[in-house]
Amino acid sequence: MTMNRQGRPSVPQQTTAAGHETFTGNRALTIEEPLIFETGRLDVTGVDLYAQEETPARLGGLRRRTAPHLPGLTEPEAVRHYVRLSQKNYAIDTGLYPLGSCTMKHNPRLNEKMARLPGFGDIHPLQPVSTVQGALELIHLVAEGLKVLTGMPAVAMSPKAGAHGELCGMMAIKAALRARGDARSVVLVPESAHGTNPATAALLGYRVESIPARADGTVDPEAVKAKLAPDVAAIMLTNPNTCGLFERDIIEIAEAVHAAGAFFYCDGANFNAILGRVRPGDLGVDAMHINLHKTFSTPHGGGGPGAGPVVLSEALAAFAPLPWVVSGPEGFDLVENADKAGGAHPFGRMTAFHGQMGMFVRAAAWMLSHGADGMRQAAEDAVLAANYIRASLSDLMSLPFGDRPCMHEVLFDDEFLDGTGVTTLDFAKAMIDEGYHPMTMYFPLVVHGAMLIEPTESESKASLDLFIATLRDLAMAARRGETDRFAGAPRFAPRRRLDETRAARQPVLRWSAPAPVGPEPARDAAE
Ligand SMILES: *Cc1c(COP(=O)(O)O)cnc(C)c1O
Repeated sequence: MTMNRQGRPSVPQQTTAAGHETFTGNRALTIEEPLIFETGRLDVTGVDLYAQEETPARLGGLRRRTAPHLPGLTEPEAVRHYVRLSQKNYAIDTGLYPLGSCTMKHNPRLNEKMARLPGFGDIHPLQPVSTVQGALELIHLVAEGLKVLTGMPAVAMSPKAGAHGELCGMMAIKAALRARGDARSVVLVPESAHGTNPATAALLGYRVESIPARADGTVDPEAVKAKLAPDVAAIMLTNPNTCGLFERDIIEIAEAVHAAGAFFYCDGANFNAILGRVRPGDLGVDAMHINLHKTFSTPHGGGGPGAGPVVLSEALAAFAPLPWVVSGPEGFDLVENADKAGGAHPFGRMTAFHGQMGMFVRAAAWMLSHGADGMRQAAEDAVLAANYIRASLSDLMSLPFGDRPCMHEVLFDDEFLDGTGVTTLDFAKAMIDEGYHPMTMYFPLVVHGAMLIEPTESESKASLDLFIATLRDLAMAARRGETDRFAGAPRFAPRRRLDETRAARQPVLRWSAPAPVGPEPARDAAE
């Protein structure tokens, strides 16, 4: 294998169906795409510029003395580069995306149309409120909708992701404890939790204590009670949990937590399974983030914008962060300062402005176009689809917690691969060859070789049937000892199997110019 200057394999190892490498390295109409710095010429530019006029230098010593060494490309070259990169994305818009614990939702095109309306898309957060009444009304509408759907009295709209919402909710808890002069130092987190839960608690200076999972995959209220002590600030619990199971003892757990003077943070990333069926406020939750990008259809992934509003109980509402929207006889207004907070004690701000406006618009479009019955049906369809997959595969693939109904995602383990020489990783990579993004692997950690499958509620039965048939075929191939199909997988992807650990631990993120260009010694172009 040859490496390019950056240590990436540059000559593709893939071979054509006939077993030959191609001359170009392209694979049919899948074109190899080098870095733009490798395609571009550093000493040319793709556009004609007028000769530079002498202008007085006002930058003093900060003035650049060497060329920036940006890659020079013609317009068609630049267009092709970015179009090819965009075609390398696998997305919910290109195929079924069974990633568990992530809820890849279909984003109706209507949402995009609404988000681009000039009255929402072209406004600025610093505009006078009198000129953005419609935008404020929309934030208010989404906020009220979230309060109704969760049965909670308050919501902070500004957090920009689930993890950011966790931070917000836990900061509200910390502020409430501080207000009553109660310095508690421990946060309880079940061992099946998403990694962001202990990370959030640790970031706020709490000591994290883990609660073991029961044999059935849920949290034992007795195990929680055994850990509850005067120094416990909160428990962070996910419901439905990351094993795809509903925590049936959640009310008993909430009561025990409250009796110990602690708060109940619920990770609401899986709210899409119970939307319209269960109100977290009725379960004793004090704070819960909602991933709009998992439950209310807005796009997700690739580092794009998320939105993680946090609903808060009566006990925490007064500590919600600024700003928030209020509606009065004069129209809508923004409360931006603590002295206008009407007796509340906001703990501060999470973001510079109001949150992800575009995501609020998409969420509002989804809520209004579905209506109450439609949202409830989306949750029911998500659960139905996951159970259809579970029931259709349970004779071939192993279920760690027995063959009982799941919520919106179904968890398999690797027991069915025992003795085949095929691992969960091999199985997932073979799915890529079949045209599927793999499911979530090796998470949650409480299950050996976990495979967590979450179908989107908008998948048709035909689409689920093909997915099921594919997994059945792979499971039978593994049992028949067809290890070639797995060991080398993916065989048909632009890149074969990568050393993912090394890629994560030692990422090569910086491009270095190969040789000095121009009269003066070149600095690192990316510096
Ligand atoms: C996705 C997820 C999070 C984090 O949400 P982000 O928006 O990715 O920050 C937290 N907990 C659970 C259970 C999740 O599935």
